[in-house]
Amino acid sequence: MPDSQPSPAAGPQLRRATSRRTAMLLAAALIMLLCVSLIALDIRHTSEARELRLSQAEKVLGNFTRSLAQHAEDKIKEADTYLAQLVERLEAEGMGDAHAARLHPLLMDSVRDMPQLHGLFVYDETGRWIVNSQPVLLTQYNNSDRDYFIQHRDDPSRRVFIGPPIRSRSTGDWIITVSRRVDQPDGRFGGVALATMAMAHFNEYYKGYDIGASGTISLLLTNGTLLARHPFVEDAMGASLAEQALYRDHVLVAERGVLREAGEYGERLVAFRHLKRYPLAVVVTQSREEVLAGWIGEARRGTLGVVLLSISLAGAGLFVLRLMAQRLRAEDELRDARDALREANVRLQRLAAEDGLTGLANRRAFDERLAAEIARARRERTPLSLLLVDVDHFKPYNDLYGHLEGDDCLREVAALIRQVATHRGGDFAARYGGEEFAVLLSGTAEDGAARVGERLRAAIADAGIEHAGSPCGYLTLSVGAAALCIDMPGDAQDLMRRADRALYQAKHDGRDRVVVDVASPG
Ligand code: GH3
Ligand code: MG
Ligand code: MG
Repeated sequence: MPDSQPSPAAGPQLRRATSRRTAMLLAAALIMLLCVSLIALDIRHTSEARELRLSQAEKVLGNFTRSLAQHAEDKIKEADTYLAQLVERLEAEGMGDAHAARLHPLLMDSVRDMPQLHGLFVYDETGRWIVNSQPVLLTQYNNSDRDYFIQHRDDPSRRVFIGPPIRSRSTGDWIITVSRRVDQPDGRFGGVALATMAMAHFNEYYKGYDIGASGTISLLLTNGTLLARHPFVEDAMGASLAEQALYRDHVLVAERGVLREAGEYGERLVAFRHLKRYPLAVVVTQSREEVLAGWIGEARRGTLGVVLLSISLAGAGLFVLRLMAQRLRAEDELRDARDALREANVRLQRLAAEDGLTGLANRRAFDERLAAEIARARRERTPLSLLLVDVDHFKPYNDLYGHLEGDDCLREVAALIRQVATHRGGDFAARYGGEEFAVLLSGTAEDGAARVGERLRAAIADAGIEHAGSPCGYLTLSVGAAALCIDMPGDAQDLMRRADRALYQAKHDGRDRVVVDVASPG
């Protein structure tokens, strides 16, 4: 019979497949999560490395600015100290022609010795040139219109004055002026001693440093006036930076600082520092892009590596998962096939042992069971009874009602036998052949067999199955019973023969009765 119903194993199979699918999805999700975490971790690490790179660059820039400020301070101080000594000497010895002539070679030597110096000059109280460091002493010029001259003339303080960059009247070079007032013995204004410093010296010095293509180094007065700049920009010299946000908000108001600025020149790092003694400041800027240039390539390569690694990891993981899933599916199919085979076997075995019409055990199964029960009865020394049951006048039943009705009748008789004669676990009913049945009653002796046989006979008679071909008008059966006793063991054939004999007797005696074969020794 084809099996179109879903097998009982379909439920567990479905559950198994679902839970395996869930596990696979979970594993795949875990792999993806791992890869995403790996990439996220790399991004975090990269941004941390970038920040570290920037803060290191800031530190370096700060230190660099500090040493540039120190350099400017040293160079100006050297000139200023020299100037202070010159003033002292002028005040002590006066500005007479003889003294001026003595000073001339000295000033020339000093300018040679101090490369930052452009020139040294002495003016009297009217601005007239008294002496200077130029090889040929010119005295026809007057500098009373210069800022520094006016400053010292009008301010009795003896402080050093540093002026804005100007072009030298004698050479045309960009210079800044460092000047001091010379007093007359009575304290009145006596003139000015001036050292001019060549901005070219600073520009040259700054040129020696590599601060990238977009970096700048500037030296400025703390009022915002630009004194020197690398790279050099002619037009910017002497210009005021005071209105630019960077200078207005930071450079001109704080002693020193390091900051990141997003201005018109793009994003850049800025470090600045004021000189300690003089109203000057050094500002160094570096493009952030250039600071990070090397790092960006490194970071890109690193991230690319991590992304490739993650993709390979995910690919390999998913591939292994797929293989595992295939293998598990194959195992499941194998298990299902094995289960189906086992079920088919069980069904076959059942069919092989079952009577197709009535569903009772068939003759073959009966023979096996009989042998087993006899062996057990001997082993356990218990009685065993056999009932042979034969439907009376069944041939006329068939003739009267037809073979199909006959089959139905046999099914009904079988059901009654099962119901009435197999109450206990050891009882066993079989269709022996045709309209004959056999019942094994283990642990049952003759009297018990007679009782069961009688109950069966009565049950059939009471069922009142119409049988017009029977003298009584309804279906009856005859039962022949025999038992193996503990004291009188026998074999299967014995028992069959005796039960058959009793059945024959029952038929002979008029049917619809039970005859027990009384065991006689020998
Ligand atoms: P008795 O009272 O002496 O037993 O008479 P009886 O007619 O029952 O005995 P007999 O042996 O002459 O006939 C048995 C009949 O049972 C013959 C046969 O057609 C019928 N029979 C055997 N097997 C089947 C079956 O599977 N189905 C049907 N419908 N009839 C069967
Ligand atoms: Mg018969
Ligand atoms: Mg019969």
